Amino acid sequence: MKIAVIGCTHAGTAAVKAIAAEHPEARITVYERNDNISFLSCGIALHVGGVVKDPEGLFYSSPEQLARLGVDTRMRHEVLRIDTAAKTLRVRSLETNEEFEDSYDKLVVTTGSWPVVPDMEGIRLDNVQLCKNFFHAKEIIARAGAARKVAVIGAGYIGIELAEAFSDLGKEVTLLDNMDRVMAKYLDAEFTDAAEEALAGRGIRTALGERVSRFEGRDGRVAKVVTDKGEHEADLVVLCIGFRPGTELVKGQLDMLDNGALLVDEYMRTSDPDVLAAGDSCAVRYNPTGQQAYIPLATNAVRMGTLAGRNLVEPKVKYRGTQGTSAIKLFDLNIASTGMTEAAAEAAGLDAAAVTLRESHRPDFMPDAEEALLKLVYERGTGRLLGAQILSRADLTQAANTLSVCIHNRMTTEDLAYVDFFFQPHYNHPWNLLNQAGLAAEKQRAEALRRQAAEEQAGAEQAAAKEQAAAEPKPERRASA
Ligand SMILES: Cc1cc2nc3c(=O)[nH]c(=O)nc-3n(C[C@H](O)[C@H](O)[C@H](O)COP(=O)(O)OP(=O)(O)OC[C@H]3O[C@@H](n4cnc5c(N)ncnc54)[C@H](O)[C@@H]3O)c2cc1C
Repeated sequence: MKIAVIGCTHAGTAAVKAIAAEHPEARITVYERNDNISFLSCGIALHVGGVVKDPEGLFYSSPEQLARLGVDTRMRHEVLRIDTAAKTLRVRSLETNEEFEDSYDKLVVTTGSWPVVPDMEGIRLDNVQLCKNFFHAKEIIARAGAARKVAVIGAGYIGIELAEAFSDLGKEVTLLDNMDRVMAKYLDAEFTDAAEEALAGRGIRTALGERVSRFEGRDGRVAKVVTDKGEHEADLVVLCIGFRPGTELVKGQLDMLDNGALLVDEYMRTSDPDVLAAGDSCAVRYNPTGQQAYIPLATNAVRMGTLAGRNLVEPKVKYRGTQGTSAIKLFDLNIASTGMTEAAAEAAGLDAAAVTLRESHRPDFMPDAEEALLKLVYERGTGRLLGAQILSRADLTQAANTLSVCIHNRMTTEDLAYVDFFFQPHYNHPWNLLNQAGLAAEKQRAEALRRQAAEEQAGAEQAAAKEQAAAEPKPERRASA
């Protein structure tokens, strides 16, 4: 069996390892246009900020390691064309420019994503940088040395992490976003307010609710970011405004969402039975809504990659979907979220409600305790959990993982209120914070039900009174003289 894998970062590496383990007899060829594999982009900000000194640690595999599994990894080889009907690929070596054809029995598309680059004036100025791969990391670090004022465009978790890293390096940082809150996709306002306060406390300027319209330069190098509300001086700009799936090669050949994310079934099979796909090139099933969504995360990529390998020939193990669970450390704040925010649930038209708890993370008799902010979003009628967010100086981020499992298993606020968690004073209360959130939501639901019953009762009484009034005989009118 001849297997071709295109792209070898997280999804590709995971797929190749799984295929080699399941099909030792197979001839596996990997095409990767980069000069490295398995780069952990999550380490870029840590490397920029000097926390991770040796970038070697940001790779967990290599062509040599894959060779030991019998895999032929062709580095600096770009796949130019895929013909799924003929099961062939057109490939170019980026070293020699030589082009050749290859064929496959099974193809795994793990071509990932690429940063969104807006088509606007000044976008090609020097020092306007992208942030995705190891090459970008090196470029950012090289250019940051001489930069004084850095503008980070996009206040998602990648932008926030970079803003913190540049601030640690002593740069004047401006963080811009067209949304009026930072990390608005993952967190509701109670949490983003705290994050914005933390950013301001460290001298990072935020320019929120501003849409970038162009970049102005001096001597070919960026000097200014111009928005619909003003101007911001910057001698280094990093764009972090999102990602697009890199699936142009199979456009028109495989089913995809409007944004180009490949649609795969729960066994990672595309609309072509001999083509599987995984990672950022794909849409994923978002469990809170049950819909396909584009949520590019390394966590999904490694799981999907492994499953593409395991299910290559026959369906064996199902993908479980995702809650888009993620976390960020912002200075001394530990923040994590899973599933839907209240704002997202409302935008999706769900009848959602939320409870927010502010509690010390462990008993007051302990020498110290940190405040924890926990929000639970749930479906009003059924109590089904939809999402959660947690923030504290204590690291309580694992609570988001626990809640992710709860959402995955379609648990309700009542389940959460009474499910078993340990108690130990170093870590929590006899009623774990998550139990407390469940109890608070149950109380809120009971009150809402009582209110609804009272309203229904009042409505019924009013209707009965009206009916009675209508049934009563009307006094006869006297004819006027
Ligand atoms: C700065 C940053 C921080 C992040 N932090 C986190 C985090 O903390 N947690 C988390 O879960 N996720 C994080 N992510 C997201 C995570 O990195 C991605 O979800 C993950 O890289 C996706 O892996 P992938 O293998 O699907 O795709 P990609 O990483 O995009 O890799 C695709 C590969 O395919 C190759 N390729 C594409 N087209 C071709 C072609 N035609 N021919 C040959 N090769 C090709 C590319 O060169 C690339 O190596 C972060 C991302 C960034 C940019």
